Parts: sequence; structure tokens; C-alpha cells
Amino acid sequence: MPVSTTDVAVVGGGPAGLALSLLLLRSGIRVTLLEKSRSTQREYRGEILQPGGQAVLDELGVLDAARERGAFAHDGFQLVEGDRVLLDADYRRLPAPYNCLLSLPQAHLLDELLAACGTFDGFTHLPGARVGSLVREGGQVCGVVAGEHEVHARVVVGADGRNSKVRLLAGIDPVRDEAFDQDVLWFKLPAPEEGRNVVRVRRGSGAPVLVYRTWPDSVQIGWTLPHGGYKRLAEHGVAYVREQIACAVPEYADAVHERIRSLGDLSLLDVFSGQAERWAADGLVLLGDSAHTHGPIGAQGINLALQDAVVLHPVLVGAVRAKDTGVGALSRFEEERRPAVTAVLKLQAMQGRAMLSRNRVADTVRPALARVVSRTPLYRRVLHKLAHGPGTVRIRTDLFTHP
Ligand SMILES: Cc1cc2nc3c(=O)[nH]c(=O)nc-3n(C[C@H](O)[C@H](O)[C@H](O)COP(=O)(O)OP(=O)(O)OC[C@H]3O[C@@H](n4cnc5c(N)ncnc54)[C@H](O)[C@@H]3O)c2cc1C
Repeated sequence: MPVSTTDVAVVGGGPAGLALSLLLLRSGIRVTLLEKSRSTQREYRGEILQPGGQAVLDELGVLDAARERGAFAHDGFQLVEGDRVLLDADYRRLPAPYNCLLSLPQAHLLDELLAACGTFDGFTHLPGARVGSLVREGGQVCGVVAGEHEVHARVVVGADGRNSKVRLLAGIDPVRDEAFDQDVLWFKLPAPEEGRNVVRVRRGSGAPVLVYRTWPDSVQIGWTLPHGGYKRLAEHGVAYVREQIACAVPEYADAVHERIRSLGDLSLLDVFSGQAERWAADGLVLLGDSAHTHGPIGAQGINLALQDAVVLHPVLVGAVRAKDTGVGALSRFEEERRPAVTAVLKLQAMQGRAMLSRNRVADTVRPALARVVSRTPLYRRVLHKLAHGPGTVRIRTDLFTHP
């Protein structure tokens, strides 16, 4: 088996792994990226990008090009019941230029990051490389094996998402948060041009539905159900399921009847959240969904993954340059980042309860409360937190050896 050597082996070429790779390459650190997929058109990923993530991509010089490949800017986010707007997060009230929710296909984002990484001699990209084991020496992780590839590195980074193999191989408990468990039926429907682009959660008599316009000409629907709820529904057959969906999104009823012919036209996603018990070991560190997993509520996962990369970057540069890649040095990332991630997970859980719970009294007072709150400084603070996360995350450009 051919053995190659690098400074950092990044496992997983999602938003976290690619953004981190680019930051390290710009700092003169060699990176080998192992990604199990051969293309960036992968299984479904979320695509609503918060302003905080937009700012990171902009500073990395890839946001404009990714947007030019195709994207929709949404004015904000609404919780709607019938004609009533129960909650309205108006992103136009945030400072420009990051005053929208961006619906950006992940392939556009990943292609641009990958192209930027590809301009560095120190970058090795191994598409189709599924990591199956870790290489260890005296208890310290010092590489990975993916099929025919054995890559030795000072640090292995697990950026391989919510079902992280690296996390499993390292014996780190994912600590799944059962309170958040949901099933989501996920599908796209053709949609004509509409006036205003807003990400909406619609509530009606049935299960709440997430609806947003997605590039180039579709609407993304996410129909949320209590865990195990879909199985019970599906027992009634496709016609029943179709009727339920058509009632939930009546404006797309024709498209629902036309497009959903069998249950196979719907993807059922198991959505959960959680935080790994620890994010580092000797020679190994986790970031993004492998360290803390996020569902679609509140569209926070990509934002956090990109910001993780920014926070981990100086920790890794310091560790590699000082040749100290033990758990003590690498845990600095977790120490700095876990409080912010915990706060966002709490916010998402609150949003989930606000949107998915059924409480007539709360629904009645919520619009009036939202109107009052929207005129207070608290509204701006909450909006800023949703958009950028708690605290400020800035790229350490002073560590760059390449522009
Ligand atoms: C239904 C749903 C909708 C969502 N919608 C949104 C949204 O709109 N906005 C938002 O911000 N967040 C959303 N999220 C969350 C968001 O998708 C994640 O938080 C985000 O993708 C995490 O990025 P990541 O780079 O850490 O992981 P991922 O994007 O999961 O990337 C991990 C990468 O690792 C690769 N990989 C996995 N195993 C291996 C292996 N063994 N070897 C090599 N490579 C491997 C995968 O192919 C993948 O490319 C949603 C989540 C769900 C479930």
C-alpha cells in the first residue's frame, strides 16, 4: 500500500473540512483531504447560509463566485399559520452586505472552496477515499487508511459529518440529543417565480412544514414529523400522504399531486442533534457536525461548521509549527468553541419548540408579542445572534504565508 505524508489529514470535504483546508494551506501547512464522494453533487445537504457563514466565505474570497453559480437571497425567516405571521425575523434590518439568508446549493460552495484549495502545491485531494481506520503509534493518532491510501499526518481532523467514522474509530461518544429527534420528509417541487423570497415554516392542522425557494427553479419542502411518525402515516398509502402534504402547502397542491406518485419520491431523513463528549485526542481533532450535530431548524449547521474552521485554524497552525499535537494543545479548540456551540444548540431547541409545539394560547399571543418585541433592542440582539452566532469569529489572516 502506498504511504504518503502530510501535515494535516482532513477527513471529509464538507463546509467544515474544505474551509479548514483552505485556511491551513494559506498558512503554509500541507493538507491531504480524503472525501468518500467523487463529486460535490452529494446526498442532500442543507443550503440556507446565515450571514456569519457568508462573512467567513467572503473573507476567504469565495462568496461572490459561489453566488454567481446560482443562489437566492431571502429577506428573512417567518413562522406562519394560515395568513397570520406568528414570528418574523427580518434580516433586512441587519447591517449590509450580510443582511439576507442565502439559499446556496452546497455544490456551489464546495466547488469554489475546492478550486481555491487546488491552487496550492501543498494540497492533495483524494476524492472517493472513504476512511476506514486510523493509524496509531504509541497511543497517538498519526494517520488514516482509506482503501488503497495510507496517509500519515501530524494531525488527523474528523470533518466527516454527523455519522463520523473518525469519531467512532477514536472511541468518542457522539452523545445524541434524543429530545430533538424528528423525521423530516424532504423533497423539491417545481415553483413559479414569486414576489418575496422568505424562508417559511408553515403551521396548519397537520405537521409543520419548512418551505423555501431553491436555485434554480424549485421550492424545497421539509415536512417535519415526530420521530417514527412517518411510518404510521405511510401505512395509509401514498394518496393519504399526498393529501396531507397538499393540505400543509395548499399553494403547491397541483405540483404535489403531479410530482409525488409513490412514497419513493419522498426522502425520509432522520434529524437529530448532539455534542460529542470530547472533540480531541492525541493527534486527532473533530469539528463541524462530527463534533456537534445540527438539524435544519434555524439553519445554523453550516454557519457553525465554517466558524469552527476559523477557530481551529490558529490552534492547528500553532500545534503543527510547535510539533506539539497532543490532546492538551488540540483541546484548546474545544475550550474556546464549545460554549458558543452549546448556546446555539439551546437556541435551536427553543426555535424547534416554538415552531413545532402545539399550544393554542401561545399561538394567539405570539403575533402581538412579536410585534412588541420587534421594536425593542432585544429583537436586534436576538436577530444578530441568529445571524452570526454568539461572539465574534475573525479569521487570523496574520498567520497567512500566502495571500
Ligand atoms: C435535513 C437537514 C437540513 C439541513 N439544513 C440546513 C440548512 O439549511 N442550513 C444549515 O446551516 N444547516 C443545515 N443543516 C445542517 C448542516 O447540513 C450541517 O450542520 C453541515 O453540513 C455540517 O457541515 P460539515 O462539513 O461538518 O459536515 P458535512 O456537510 O456532513 O460533510 C461531511 C463530509 O464528510 C464526508 N465523509 C463522511 N464519512 C467519510 C469517510 N469515512 N471518509 C471520507 N469522507 C467521509 C461526507 O461525504 C461529507 O462530504 C441541515 C441538516 C439536515 C439533516
